[in-house]
Amino acid sequence: MAKSAAHSNKTLRSLCTALGKRSVYNSVAHCNRCGLCAAVCPVYAKIRQESFSPRGRNQALRLVLEGKLNLRKNKAQLKQIAYSCTLCGQCSQVCPGQIPTVQHVLELRRRLSGAALPSSLFKLMRLRETSPRLFAEIVRGGLALHRAKLLPGFSWLKFLKERLPRTHYPAFNPPAQQRPTLIYLPSFEAQFLRPDIAQQVYTLAAHKYHPAVWLNTPSGLFEYVYGDLPRARKLVRCLLTRHARTGNGKLPLLIDSTELYEFLQQAPALFDGFDTWQRKAEHFVSCLRFVTDLFPKKLSAASTPSPVLFMSTSLLGAPAPLVAQTQEILHTLFKKNFVQCEYTSACLPPFGYGLGNTQAVQGLHLSAVGTVARHQTRTVVVCSVGTALEMEALLHRFYPSAQVRHVAHLTDNVCNLTTKATS
Ligand code: SF4
Ligand code: SF4
Repeated sequence: MAKSAAHSNKTLRSLCTALGKRSVYNSVAHCNRCGLCAAVCPVYAKIRQESFSPRGRNQALRLVLEGKLNLRKNKAQLKQIAYSCTLCGQCSQVCPGQIPTVQHVLELRRRLSGAALPSSLFKLMRLRETSPRLFAEIVRGGLALHRAKLLPGFSWLKFLKERLPRTHYPAFNPPAQQRPTLIYLPSFEAQFLRPDIAQQVYTLAAHKYHPAVWLNTPSGLFEYVYGDLPRARKLVRCLLTRHARTGNGKLPLLIDSTELYEFLQQAPALFDGFDTWQRKAEHFVSCLRFVTDLFPKKLSAASTPSPVLFMSTSLLGAPAPLVAQTQEILHTLFKKNFVQCEYTSACLPPFGYGLGNTQAVQGLHLSAVGTVARHQTRTVVVCSVGTALEMEALLHRFYPSAQVRHVAHLTDNVCNLTTKATS
């Protein structure tokens, strides 16, 4: 009983920090307020106010936990503090105590009821869980009507429209697989907004495996990011159960976007105090694979006339091993033409951020486009599908001579190279 009570809780009992498992208060109180983190925070660089710095966000949660800041009375201000963070995690990289500010910001979001995005968007996302087929039809129908300029209205639909790819890609319809040797879990954005990316990932996987595709499967990432922990847990539990029932629970599970990968890596932390689920989650994490894991070991250089810029920007921060792996691949393929851009000059906020944070978003967007212009590149490589959508919309407006390629698009090179490498 005690355990299920703990898991109906809307907040996490403890956090995994660089110093080990800590209570939320212990973790946030460990911030010594030195302020070193402010220098790398992309939001603080645009809005020079202490409460928008990583230190300010940590202190806000601390004051709430100590009962010195009333959640209800200060809700509007606290929402701004919690939802203006891009969750990029750069502050923790430079912090002497590696304070997990992202985790603290997410904890603050859980304590504030209601998210910063329109409720119509939430209703649609919930439909994905309860009626996936209807959800898929509504999304496809809505996008088609939008393209035909027949569906004005909801603010987020307008926002979505701006981020729709200019090219019309056919819907992603992979063949059913009877005896899969791998599971591919396409991110929401790849499946519905950039089906070409989902198709590329599938093609790459099909070189070595018989991929089964889990279409229209909510992962819990959306709920986790917007403060709904019980629902995020429920959806992760569904994933764990489905994975355990497929292929004896041993099949690799392929992910196409760094945010989804990072979120699922954290699955064991969601089940703190619930040992059976935590063990299942640990096994599940050991089966996760990212697109770059499927690239051939031996790659030959590809020719390109202009610099190739890699933006590792991602919601929840792209995990360091994936960034390193992608850098190595790009370095092998493009040699001196490969440019790793500085994170702080190209931190694109997460998909949907612009709906609730008009104050910060414009500055962040302009920095990212400025970085592309400074390097005079024609190709920007990203490993997050959300970033691909944001960057594509920006380049279309401000720098149309450059194009965005998801790391999966490098399979165009890789597929040729696979033949060479194996011949
Ligand atoms: S989060 Fe880290 S770097 Fe920032 S003020 Fe606290 S201790 Fe200093
Ligand atoms: S996660 Fe990023 S945006 Fe949020 S406080 Fe840290 S550096 Fe700033």
